[in-house]
Amino acid sequence: MEERQCLFCKSPLNPYVKTKDFMVTKEPFEVYVCSSCGLGVTLPQPKDVGKYYRSEEYLSHQERRDNWFQRIYHWVQHYTFWKRRRLLERFVSGRHILDYGCGRGAFGTYLTQQGWHVVGVELDENARKQAQKNFPTFHPEEKTYLQKAYDVILLWHVLEHLYTPLETLRQLCSCLKPSGVLVIAVPHYDSPHARYFNTFWAGWDVPRHLFHFSKTFMKKQLPEYLKLRCRAYYPLYIDGFYTTILSERYQKGANFWNLPLGALKGAFLALQGCDAQCYVYAS
Ligand SMILES: [Zn+2]
Repeated sequence: MEERQCLFCKSPLNPYVKTKDFMVTKEPFEVYVCSSCGLGVTLPQPKDVGKYYRSEEYLSHQERRDNWFQRIYHWVQHYTFWKRRRLLERFVSGRHILDYGCGRGAFGTYLTQQGWHVVGVELDENARKQAQKNFPTFHPEEKTYLQKAYDVILLWHVLEHLYTPLETLRQLCSCLKPSGVLVIAVPHYDSPHARYFNTFWAGWDVPRHLFHFSKTFMKKQLPEYLKLRCRAYYPLYIDGFYTTILSERYQKGANFWNLPLGALKGAFLALQGCDAQCYVYAS
């Protein structure tokens, strides 16, 4: 039976948008939003979300560079890695990081090259094996990674993919050093991009995104729940460009104009606000 109660505050859920899995199966899904705290949830929640990741297009698990769109994606990725590292180094002097949901370990590998000590957690077996070539990487159930203490615990576009995001965060916070920071990046369904593209907004990414977060939830409810303070948050404009180009493609079908039109709309929407933000929490 479907859960129609908020996972966080138990208030009733209201239907918010009907969308579908544009990337892999084309199956329809709905997003419901809590009437009280604003936490969004994808319904129905598939029991085994694994089959929804089996796509040539799922770029975070791919290293293909055989067309110009993907080449640009990887070039931009390198720049964002540099920016992300600079951000972390602004808040901590220690260099021990837990990269929860590290994928194939691209960012972790970059960090090890910069003198960081990286521990990864990744559910997908192929991605995990790839990451293990460069730093220790565990299955989420292995739990040995919780026996260490970290300066940074990072969930970069990962929280929305978890079945139990709140419990997972609480557990992870128990292995944060007293001076450590929790860093979370998520897309925002209350963004101008989501309003503009509505059902076609690529940030829904159902059913891979099981939960959806508002800015208020990330600034207020989540830190209260974790007994942390939200120290800072930063707009992720590049993520918004990527989402806009993809949304344009979902709406109009794949064609030559996806990139220029998406980039133009992305710039216009960015003037009104950002599509995703990164949050830094500390005690
Ligand atoms: Zn709620």
